[in-house]
Amino acid sequence: MASAEPLLSVQEARARVLAAAVPLPAERLPIESCLGSALAQDLVADRPLPAFDNSEVDGYAVRASDLAGALPDRPVSLPVAFELAAGEGAVRRLEAGRAARVFTGAPLPPGADAVVMQERVRREAGRAIFETACEAGLGVRRAGEDVAAGARALEAGSTVGPAEIALALALGSTDLSVHRRPSVAIVTTGDELFDPGEALPPGGIFDSNGPALAAAVRAAGVTILGRHRAKDDPAALWAALERCRGADLVLTVAGVSVGERDYVRAALEGLGASLDFWRVAMRPGKPLALGRWGRVPILCLPGNPVSCLVTFELFGRPLVRRLAGHREVERPLVDAELSAAVRKPADLAFFCRGRWEDGRFTPAPKQGSGILTSLVGQNGLAEIPPGPSELPAGSRVRVRLLGVPELS
Ligand code: AMP
Ligand code: MG
Repeated sequence: MASAEPLLSVQEARARVLAAAVPLPAERLPIESCLGSALAQDLVADRPLPAFDNSEVDGYAVRASDLAGALPDRPVSLPVAFELAAGEGAVRRLEAGRAARVFTGAPLPPGADAVVMQERVRREAGRAIFETACEAGLGVRRAGEDVAAGARALEAGSTVGPAEIALALALGSTDLSVHRRPSVAIVTTGDELFDPGEALPPGGIFDSNGPALAAAVRAAGVTILGRHRAKDDPAALWAALERCRGADLVLTVAGVSVGERDYVRAALEGLGASLDFWRVAMRPGKPLALGRWGRVPILCLPGNPVSCLVTFELFGRPLVRRLAGHREVERPLVDAELSAAVRKPADLAFFCRGRWEDGRFTPAPKQGSGILTSLVGQNGLAEIPPGPSELPAGSRVRVRLLGVPELS
């Protein structure tokens, strides 16, 4: 039975999962509510940034040609004609042979072409004394040097972070067109599962995957619509899935392998969802299913706690990020040297949990699919492709960095 399912490579399975995701429609949100969303449209600047030439420093605006030849023993002394602070609109012209006292952000007076910082200027009774020459443009922020009028300031598909918020606001925008963020429903399954705080009967365990997965989903910047749990019973599972209507993505956990008590597949087929059932050539992980319920993708993850989180990381997170419209759906990948040997199944890709630091990757000591302590306190997932069953210490591996803080 199990061998009837295709054995897919991780790459192929990831490509199929991503192909199932169409970014959700756009909505306009006030800029300050856009943190972590993906832009649905380019933002084109309708004005230059900065909007006017202005001073980069507190100092003295001059014509650079007036300071030609200035040296410590042959200083140039110019009368200070006027003063100009940030926010002043009415700007006088700077005539030749004069300086103007200016502050950071003040408009550059017409006629001036440089600003010498005050640390380099001596002040003597209404005059500014310069002991060095300067080039035109010194100390000046030119209009449009950051963004030219008509230029693309932000690109569709990019993630809105603090810098994007700053740029959009600096350009005068009040709101942005962003993709709606997906809402995700989670269904855990198993007769053995109980809520935290409940008295556990013999054989019972706490449902840790449901809340852990909800946390992983939220950390990916997505809303949790609901979390449901079903016994290993087709009708109960069906009812739990029915309660997921309205979600943009459904995640199920466990019951997806080929045991007689694995009902997820039957329940989904009963609901009319199309289902692609795979064994992925990886550990932890292996059983994984991808379905479609109308326009809603359903990703069925394995129940072993480590498998659940690792497969969410590899398949679920890119899927939710793509639904949310992000162009970049992957974590940063870095190269590292293994600090200890790793044993793995020869024919499977192995996702080794451990700690990356400064180019070295230290695997967690125990790597079983049920060993949660292999993930706790770690920050990386080393991807070791199918091949030899042992990698010696010193081998080069590619590490997915998990510990990067998310916008959520
Ligand atoms: P299954 O995929 O249903 O065969 O489950 C595989 C293993 O994962 C079993 O040991 C289950 O008890 C365990 N498991 C399944 N669901 C959860 C859950 N929500 N929380 C913690 N462990 C789970
Ligand atoms: Mg089960």
